[in-house]
Amino acid sequence: MGTLAELKGYALALGLCVVAVPIAIHYDIPSSCFLLAAMLSCLFGGRKPSILAVIVLAIAFSFFVLPPKHYLGIAPESLVRFIAFVGAMLLATELIHAKRRSDLARLEREKEFRMMAETCPDCILIIDASQTIQFANPATAAIFGYSVEEVLSKSPSFLIEDLDLAQEPVGEFTARTKQGGVIDLDATCGRFGDKTTVFLRNITDRKHAERELAHSEETLRLTLDTIPVMAYTRSADGNVDYADRHASEYFGNTRQELRAGAWIESLHPEERDFILRRIHESSAAEQGYVMEYRRKGFDGVYRWFQTRVEPLKDSEGRLIRWYGILIDIDDRRRMEDMLRQTEAKLSRAAQMATAAELSASIVHEISQPIAAMVTNGQACVRWLNASPPNLANGVMAAERIVRDGKDAREIIKGLRTLFKRSAPQKIALSLREIADEVVLLKRSQLQREGASLDMLIPSELPTILGDRTQIQQVLLNLVSNALDAVRANADRPKALTVRSTASNGSVMVEVTDNGEGLADADRVFETFYTTKGDGMGMGLSISKSIIEAHGGRLWALNAKPCGAIFSFSLPCTDASVN
Ligand code: ADP
Repeated sequence: MGTLAELKGYALALGLCVVAVPIAIHYDIPSSCFLLAAMLSCLFGGRKPSILAVIVLAIAFSFFVLPPKHYLGIAPESLVRFIAFVGAMLLATELIHAKRRSDLARLEREKEFRMMAETCPDCILIIDASQTIQFANPATAAIFGYSVEEVLSKSPSFLIEDLDLAQEPVGEFTARTKQGGVIDLDATCGRFGDKTTVFLRNITDRKHAERELAHSEETLRLTLDTIPVMAYTRSADGNVDYADRHASEYFGNTRQELRAGAWIESLHPEERDFILRRIHESSAAEQGYVMEYRRKGFDGVYRWFQTRVEPLKDSEGRLIRWYGILIDIDDRRRMEDMLRQTEAKLSRAAQMATAAELSASIVHEISQPIAAMVTNGQACVRWLNASPPNLANGVMAAERIVRDGKDAREIIKGLRTLFKRSAPQKIALSLREIADEVVLLKRSQLQREGASLDMLIPSELPTILGDRTQIQQVLLNLVSNALDAVRANADRPKALTVRSTASNGSVMVEVTDNGEGLADADRVFETFYTTKGDGMGMGLSISKSIIEAHGGRLWALNAKPCGAIFSFSLPCTDASVN
């Protein structure tokens, strides 16, 4: 089925034939008239209608023109003329068809170019040899504010002052719009014969963003250089790509040297491998870290620094960069070391003070079993000297001597460990045994004060890992404080309790008294806090640091209705106990 345009072509071709035949016959100009009709049907109807016209006109030529006329057949003598005539018609239509086809193709190309030029967001200018703009697309108006007509026939410098066509006009330019605004343009060009096509892209927004970015980077750099920390960044592959002024000044390296790895040289040789390994591990895990380590400054002196490094990731979680700061903590570290030494000295002093205080009660404790030993020794001598000697009573007296002797030895042993200056040694300890020793040391004082002490410590309590002397010192201090607290009890008995339980892998010890309670529960662990006239205010702070050094906790509460509860918990040696 032909399209409507084709049908119209056929109709036109047949119409032309119908008009051409009578005119040709009437004026006796058949060849030229028929040829013209065939050419016109090709020109206006197309190729296929022109073939129909050629067939119709060939029949008409044979019927009306060639002898014998009004007869459809062709006499042999007319055959050559007939073929020549039909050939001429076919040749003419073919030539017209070829011309028409090339015209259509050219029109199509022109249409495409126009469409492209009109829709292109970049400005396109065609400039001829005399340096005038021959063509400008609509984007020119959008970019420069001039209409296309205003631009045509002008020199390109009308739009961009610096545009020099003598040289290749490529690169970035600034120009003014008709309204006076300044715009940034990126130019590329192509030459075709003596014409130059210039493409201009408006990059004002991009340049503005670049300038903003450069400005904010400069502001950031100034900020980093002004705040008193050393700051640096590392690229995603781990290389230092920025170090602020403080860092380069302190380490005496240029930023380029720091980038090239000079910072590794400034690490302390004892820590270097460890630090590099940590950095490597955190880079692999893409996680930030905090480390304290020594680094050598430009003066060759090592100082302590704390570094904090965090990764920056994009919205999809991809690592972009590492940001790090270095804070000089050398003074703090020195202060901490000094404090540690002072605390150790104080602890030792308090230990000595406790021991000195206790030695008095120990002397008292020892004098008791010694007096008993003397009495029992005398009794033993008497029983053995009797005649006959009373061996049974003699043995009983001798056994009492042995028992009292052992008691005295235990007391002396406890005293020796208190005085011994030895590094803490952590061993498996039975809290029951420690509590027994403390009670032994405090027995006579308790009796003297008329105070009772209940021991609620199960014998199957799990052991804890600790230094015997230190744990003993803590418990002794808590019991001494409890005893001090109940001393003023006038209207109620003076009652102390030492209770111990095991749960969740740790052992808890509670020392309870029914004294006045804590005057200020928040301050009791402060060093030098004391409410006693002769107090030093060190016992509890030292006890707390001892318990914490053992991985435990020490705390205090007021008891109901009166008194205080001091509790500490320590991990069991066998963590499976609960
Ligand atoms: P000191 O016994 O030399 O005062 P401590 O550090 O042992 O030093 O105790 C600090 C303070 O805590 C005591 O002065 C006291 O006010 C308070 N305190 C300690 N134990 C008790 C207790 N069982 N009851 C009431 N107050 C206590």
